[in-house]
Amino acid sequence: MEGSTGRHSPDPAGAVLREVSDGIFAYLQPDGSWWINNAGFLVGRRGVVSVDTCSTERRTRRYRDAISSVSPLPVRTLINTHHHGDHTFGNYQFAGAAIVAHENARQAMIDYGLPHSQSYWTAVEWGALELEPPFLTFTDALSLWVDELRCEIRHVGTAAHTTNDSVVWIPDRGVLFAGDLLFNGGTPFLLQGSVAGAITALRDVVKRLDPETIIPGHGSICGPDVIDATIEYLYFVQAAARHGRAAGLTPLEAAQEAELGAYAELTDAERIVGNLHRAYAELDGAPPGAPIDADAAFRDMVTFNGGRPLACHA
Ligand SMILES: [Zn+2]
Repeated sequence: MEGSTGRHSPDPAGAVLREVSDGIFAYLQPDGSWWINNAGFLVGRRGVVSVDTCSTERRTRRYRDAISSVSPLPVRTLINTHHHGDHTFGNYQFAGAAIVAHENARQAMIDYGLPHSQSYWTAVEWGALELEPPFLTFTDALSLWVDELRCEIRHVGTAAHTTNDSVVWIPDRGVLFAGDLLFNGGTPFLLQGSVAGAITALRDVVKRLDPETIIPGHGSICGPDVIDATIEYLYFVQAAARHGRAAGLTPLEAAQEAELGAYAELTDAERIVGNLHRAYAELDGAPPGAPIDADAAFRDMVTFNGGRPLACHA
């Protein structure tokens, strides 16, 4: 499955499959921008465990082919790290699997529904999707065994990227599936979660696991340095929000004024606008994950992007 890692590769055939530890595979989809996620799976003697699916029918079919290239065994368990469609729209292609997630992920996926026309992104060929929410839910943590290998599915304890983020931690191997708590090479996105919560989750949960190998929700495999880099970005967002609010700027104006520096090189840099909407709400006292006007934030992100829809190559 080695393929192109071009910066904007709309072709799902460009995905890369890597065995990061014995029987543990990462499925990486370049370039990790909007709706182009990573997934992965663990192969046991009697079945396969998948962590997440993909956004479009075509991408999830490719992902299933990648699993089949390694094992003829069925996927018996499917874990969703959170409810976002790039990680869950493909769930329906895993008939027979128990679909597991934090209980807020189930409701959030039902509330969002199937992809609907949204002018914020460029058009996507979704294929014939069916909504298949997680139906085995938990509130704190679950242990899942792949033969003798213990996998810990842990909710991070606070809203962070969303209200329902879990990580999959395999302590014996030092391997972590981080979901969208981490974007390697992409701009973190906290609009539907919490900037403050993400800092807490990364510092007090993810970092303390002391992972050696991290499969982020988007971007290439990384080590723990990306945790620190992400926390730094989140502090940067909070500082820009404090500065912008004190100066009487809107979140959009604060984003336009912010010196992104190296962060401008991350994919989907317009997420700074959504992140500032969330950080402003938190300065106003909104608890982590409280509903805010996401449509207003997306409209501002399009404005920040020169009035063009956000580039989606899914
Ligand atoms: Zn996400």
